[in-house]
Parts: sequence; structure tokens; C-alpha cells
Amino acid sequence: PFNAIVAEDVDGKPRAALKSISLNDLPDEEVLVEVAYSTLNYKDGLAVSGKGRICRSLPLICGIDLAGTVLESKNPAFTAGDKVLVNGYGLSEIHNGGYSQYQRLKAEWLVRAPAAFSLEHCMALGTAGYTAMLCVQAIQDHGIKPEDGPVLVTGAAGGVGSVAISLLSKLGYSVTAVTGRVADSSAFLRDLGASDIISRDEFIRDCKPLERETWAAAVDTVGDKLLATVLSQIKYEGLVAACGLAGGINLPSTVMPFILRGVTLRGIDSVMASQPRRQRAWDALAQLTDIAALEKIYRIEPMSKLPELAQQIIAGKIQGRVVIDVNQ
Ligand code: NAP
Repeated sequence: PFNAIVAEDVDGKPRAALKSISLNDLPDEEVLVEVAYSTLNYKDGLAVSGKGRICRSLPLICGIDLAGTVLESKNPAFTAGDKVLVNGYGLSEIHNGGYSQYQRLKAEWLVRAPAAFSLEHCMALGTAGYTAMLCVQAIQDHGIKPEDGPVLVTGAAGGVGSVAISLLSKLGYSVTAVTGRVADSSAFLRDLGASDIISRDEFIRDCKPLERETWAAAVDTVGDKLLATVLSQIKYEGLVAACGLAGGINLPSTVMPFILRGVTLRGIDSVMASQPRRQRAWDALAQLTDIAALEKIYRIEPMSKLPELAQQIIAGKIQGRVVIDVNQ
């Protein structure tokens, strides 16, 4: 027997708790992985707290990420001892996820852990870090260079936001952070490389369709009025990489930024992104991540603490990243 965080149906509602399970409870997939670490993302907070309908069939093991070592593989692409990670692919939604000491997975979901990272570092980045890299690559692929102007990052003190700031600043972009926690997070954000910090309360308002052209690009993790304001301030032919909904799912904007300034709203999805796109993002993370800097943005917590941590992340109270030690 071993431990997992399992969401079950309790009186018609999903409830996740630590349970003892066995290998017979795992799905019949081709690769058996001994999991070392998982992580805590906003979506995990929604799943474990039951506040979002993330788990679409119950019972289901939660956790959208995992990193571990292959124990057995029926697919010749992997052999025992390989260090691997998985992000998304429906884990914790329709497939059993990473909050488990063991998991069986399809070989096509696995990414080889980059040699530059320990399994702990892989999960310090996790879906949040890999999504931040997809956002940064969308900005680079659009041809936006550091000299084109500052880049705005919203939800700055969260997981995606904090990794995006450090990646952008490493690439030479001038980064402005929007945060709801100016007092608590300014030192943290400046340490990551943000040169300016704007309070979320000042930034969110009913914006005009077009405001002063200010940002060459933006990474938005918040959505709603905040994303509408960002769009109204993007410079001519700039781009917003939109990946999140921490502030809501609406988008009260107009077509004006698109038709008068050629602004691009680029949606970013990490869950079903193709293997080449994932590989490219993880290769770039391995190249750009400064391990000493990464170690300042995460802490390790035991799996048993997940119910409490889930409440904290959806309340916007987690700074940076949390790695989950599934064996603790
Ligand atoms: P996180 O660590 O909780 O970060 C979210 C940040 O958003 C918070 O730290 C907070 O930043 C801000 N925030 C929280 N509640 C807010 C509210 N009510 N209004 C405005 N801002 C609020 O979460 P994460 O794991 O980085 O994920 C960030 C977002 O990206 C989530 O919506 C998540 O679902 C999404 N996401 C999407 C993908 C994808 O594939 N599309 C992948 C990963 C994540 P401040 O304290 O600095 O204000």
C-alpha cells in the first residue's frame, strides 16, 4: 500500500483526501513511474478544494504534474531508471494524476527530465513554469525584442507570474509586475527581476477602448477587467499571451486594440500542447533557468498538507511555487 490524494464523490460533491491505495488501483497504462515530486498549481487548488469541477470522473487521483523514475515500461521508448515528468494531458481531469507515490501513464505523455534539473527542480517549475515559458516563447515568436518596450506580467507573485518575470528579465526584457500584494511581494518581485511594480487595485478599472500605448507585450494569468485594461494599453502590433483566469473568465473588451493597433491576443494552453512544443519549452527552461534563483521561489511541502494548501492558492495567498513531496 502507498499514499495518494484521491477525489471521491461525497453526497454529490467531489472531496479529496489522503488515502492508502495499491498498484491494483492504478490504471492499466504502459509505463509505471515511481513518483518523487508533484506540485501545487491553481488548477490543483480548484481540484483538491472541490471549488472547481476539475475531476470529471470520480474517484480520481488529483495532481496535474509529476516527476519521477520509470520502474517498468511496456513501451520501448522508455526503460527502467529513466527520469521523466508529465504536465497536464488530462491528469486530475480524466486520468489519474501526480499526487501518488506511484502512477501508470501512457508513454506519449512523458517528457524526459532535462539533465540540467533534478526531479525536485522539474516540479519547482512544473506546469506553472512550463506555461510561463510557452507565454515567453509566444512573445519571442511574434518578433518582440527587449528594445521594443516593457513587458507586463499580471498575477505576478503567483507561480506562472513569478517564473515569467525571471525568464523575461533573463532574456533582457524590462518587466513590470501587476500584483495585488504590493506590500508583501515587492522585494520578492524585484529580486526576480521586475523593474516596476503596479498595484492590481490601481490597474483594474473600467478602461477606455484604447489607452496610452505602454507595453510591447504582456503575460496575463488573471483575465476579466484586468486583461481588458492590458489589451487597451498594448503598443502597435504587440501581443498578449493569455493563460489564466485567476480573476475571472470574462473579457469585457472591445475590438479596438485589434483593428486599430494590430494587437494579437494569443491563447496559451499547456494541457494538450504537442510534444514538440513541450520539448521546446523544457529545453529553453533548462537553458535559461538559474538554479540558485529558482531555489529562492519554491518551498517543499508534504502531500498531507494539500487540503490546506489548496485553499491558500485559490485565495491568492501562495507566493511563488510549492513542490509536493509525495513520499513525505
Ligand atoms: P497562482 O500561483 O495562484 O497565481 C495566480 C496569481 O493571480 C496570484 O498569485 C495573484 O497574484 C493573482 N490573483 C489571485 N486571485 C486573483 C483575483 N481574484 N483577481 C486578480 N488576481 C488574482 O496560480 P498559477 O498556478 O500561477 O496559475 C495562474 C493562472 O494561470 C490560473 O488561472 C491558472 O488556472 C492558469 N494556468 C493556465 C495554464 C494553461 O495551460 N492555460 C497553465 C497554468 C496555469 P498577485 O498576488 O501577484 O496579485
